[in-house]
Amino acid sequence: MVKLDVQQDVPLAPLTTLGLGGPARHFIRVRTEESLVEAFRWAREEGVPVQVLAGGSNVVVADAGYPGLIIHNQLLGCSVAKDGVVRVAAGEPWDDVVHKTVSADLAGLECLSGIPGSTGATPIQNVGAYGQQVADTLQSVRVLTRDQLEPVEFGPDDCEFAYRDSLFKRRPDRWVVLEVTFGLRPGGKAKVEYDELAGTLGSSPSLAETRQAVLALRRSKSMVLDPDDPNRRSVGSFFLNPIVTDELANQVVQTALADGLVNDAAAVPRFSVGGGKSKLAAAWLIERTGFHKGFVRGAVGISSKHALALVHHGGGTTAQLLSLADEIRDRVKSRFGVTLYREPRLLG
Ligand code: NAP
Repeated sequence: MVKLDVQQDVPLAPLTTLGLGGPARHFIRVRTEESLVEAFRWAREEGVPVQVLAGGSNVVVADAGYPGLIIHNQLLGCSVAKDGVVRVAAGEPWDDVVHKTVSADLAGLECLSGIPGSTGATPIQNVGAYGQQVADTLQSVRVLTRDQLEPVEFGPDDCEFAYRDSLFKRRPDRWVVLEVTFGLRPGGKAKVEYDELAGTLGSSPSLAETRQAVLALRRSKSMVLDPDDPNRRSVGSFFLNPIVTDELANQVVQTALADGLVNDAAAVPRFSVGGGKSKLAAAWLIERTGFHKGFVRGAVGISSKHALALVHHGGGTTAQLLSLADEIRDRVKSRFGVTLYREPRLLG
């Protein structure tokens, strides 16, 4: 029988990259799958709601805190086999995993360098960057069912991956990710598709060079956690890049031309994703509504490096941050007719 250390009224802000929000009524740190199961049983017996927190990089905690049990997932372990099979426990910091695989000359995750958070979170929103996404190399996800508390394995097709989306994201109360397995390419080439990345690299870059270039790009946008960076308290992108009908994308271009925001339709960033849909750049839309990089309102604002990241400057509240987010969303909607959706999870 596992002995649980149940703590009360534990501040959650220090466990998140935003540094905002109140305490967890109950809190258990788990380092083994057995204690994770026991923590869920404990919550069931006590009749309290339960949420799992890991890296804290994509979560916004309410000022009142969380009224139930927070399970802090610290399941650790990462095995890297020469044939490219990489098995990672959910609580393992993601960038350590990318670093290990690049050092082992395994291709497939190099563009996903520098992303904060835990490995278990990556399949949930099918984390992606610079044309690579975890769904491309993921072989399986082992999860715990929250009702039966049984482990179940999902193959890539079962996960229903889409752009920054998966079955796990759509059904957050069904499963908890325990372990993720990737099938990487030993000695494979780096994937360099985006111009922004290619522009900083020579031809046929190594995996290590690609990782360094991605880290430098992300650092230039304050998208790598750095204790000295004034933009450091954020959840990275606060909104998803919207995927809209081609018709709406055309309307956005017409609005931008009519309002003199651009002289040329090609100056509006848009990327066809097929099926009559286009992806727009949320940061571009936000900046065109007057919310510029470095915008400050009291203790919260917009990163000085990237309009998609809302930041907390210290001493603020979650209510202030969410109010700014709502205003940005409403202004983009009224100017361009595009709805922005929040990327981080709300807790409490
Ligand atoms: P960015 O590079 O300024 O790109 C803005 C938007 O344009 C994104 O929607 C991006 O698509 C798209 N885009 C740019 N070049 C493209 C190309 N050659 N082909 C297709 N689409 C293109 O974005 P950023 O905010 O600085 O972020 C850098 C990268 O990190 C992006 O890939 C972004 O999506 C990613 N990111 C991911 C997460 C996450 O997984 N939760 C969070 C933050 C940033 P894509 O989004 O498809 O790349």
